[in-house]
Amino acid sequence: MRFAVVTVAGKEYLTPEPLLKDLVDPTVISPPISIRQIPSLPETPINSQFAFSKELQSFLAGRELLLDELPYPLHVLHDHYQNGYIQYEYGIQFRAGYPHCSRCANQEAEYFFAFVCARCRQMCTYCRKCIMLGRLSQCTPLIRWAGPLPPVKIVEPILAWDGQLSAEQSVASDQLVQAIEKKTPFLIWAVCGAGKTEMLFQGIAQALARGRRVLLAAPRTDVITELTPRFIAAFPTTAIVSLYGGSDDRGKNGQLFLSTTHQLLRYRDYFDVIIVDEVDAFPYSIDQSLHCAVQKAQKEDGVTVFLTATPSKELKKLHHQKVPKRYHGYPLPVPEFQWCGNWKKKLAKRRLPQPLQLWLTKRLTSKKQMFLFVPTIEVGQQLVPIVRDLGISSESVHAEDEKRHEKVAKFRRGELQLLVTTTILERGVTVPNIDVAVLGAEEAIFTESALVQIAGRVGRHKDYPSGDIIFFHYGKTMAMVEAKRHIESMNEEGGFS
Ligand SMILES: [Zn+2]
Ligand SMILES: [Zn+2]
Repeated sequence: MRFAVVTVAGKEYLTPEPLLKDLVDPTVISPPISIRQIPSLPETPINSQFAFSKELQSFLAGRELLLDELPYPLHVLHDHYQNGYIQYEYGIQFRAGYPHCSRCANQEAEYFFAFVCARCRQMCTYCRKCIMLGRLSQCTPLIRWAGPLPPVKIVEPILAWDGQLSAEQSVASDQLVQAIEKKTPFLIWAVCGAGKTEMLFQGIAQALARGRRVLLAAPRTDVITELTPRFIAAFPTTAIVSLYGGSDDRGKNGQLFLSTTHQLLRYRDYFDVIIVDEVDAFPYSIDQSLHCAVQKAQKEDGVTVFLTATPSKELKKLHHQKVPKRYHGYPLPVPEFQWCGNWKKKLAKRRLPQPLQLWLTKRLTSKKQMFLFVPTIEVGQQLVPIVRDLGISSESVHAEDEKRHEKVAKFRRGELQLLVTTTILERGVTVPNIDVAVLGAEEAIFTESALVQIAGRVGRHKDYPSGDIIFFHYGKTMAMVEAKRHIESMNEEGGFS
């Protein structure tokens, strides 16, 4: 889409090319050109008399979208722009010669690409980093709502959850209420299995009661789809929006949002409270643009709260509350180390290292379910046939595995005894009675935080609060030692010694 700058009754407006022919008596300042060639985008003041579309308000408020993402006729959008209810913004801007993406805040040169653009008929730079949300290039503006925000509907009682918090959960829950009230950035450092979702309910309920908009962001779709029904049950009168790739809620507005960190990129200055779950998990931990996305989506006077079992050094500097005990009151299972020699060589010969074989066959008789974490997809694929020869029903999964959800569901139903997995399942998946092992724990992918999360899969259910966690290795690493120390010190703080 190209735009012309037009003067009507002494005021300057940006006008989409297809609407130019309908103008009555305009003064066209520039012929239609790419938005990138317009040195500054005229903003229009709000006309409070204008009868704006409530539907468009609900669709666009808080978001920044491409024209293609807006299912409204151009003239409707233009009316709203002329009356100050919509504003345009450059998608990609050059600052001191370097491109900058307004949507994902990307500034890394290797994530920009220039192509001969059919729209603006010249070389045009676009951002590859946020391409999954639709191509944003120099000639594509972002459109945002500039009118009043849609009202929120508060129906008391807001919180329907009536469960009991443990003493440790209560302390964290109270602190969270305070932090949200005072708008102090806050960290809940809770062990795996502490019951963190329940700790959030009071703080969220209070913010909702005050008419605030709350967002819970998590890095993975699995986590959002698992949390959504729990939040709907806990907050039955609140308008809840659940956002992930392929979600039906895109375009909906509400007061409580659950979103993957990627979908968050479409929001700006909207949320009073943002809670970032599993803050250290891939891809949030390695992707600076997602940190920017959280900052961007938060209102200037809003507050962000972080939630994790394995905070970074940076996060530990925040005001925080530890929850060292699991909700069921039992200690965290402490990992055991087991040297297993050159396991890669063994696998290449279609054999298992002896200690691993023993560990597996022991469970063949007890029928207990197992997770086995491996460093690569290939190791998983090598292992499965060998393990099946032992008579153990098994599948391997990894992040790009198309049958991942199917296989995990089969495992949950108890139709598989062993699930061999890459670190993709280090969080989120909870199976009640399980033993867990890592093969090749010395590999670099198994960081302290990954190992703590993996150990955290064991003993989460109150009926099965213990279980084995064993690191099979070919040489102990610092990460292994630190993961064990981390777990032991949490147990000490939890009153176990
Ligand atoms: Zn971008
Ligand atoms: Zn272009």
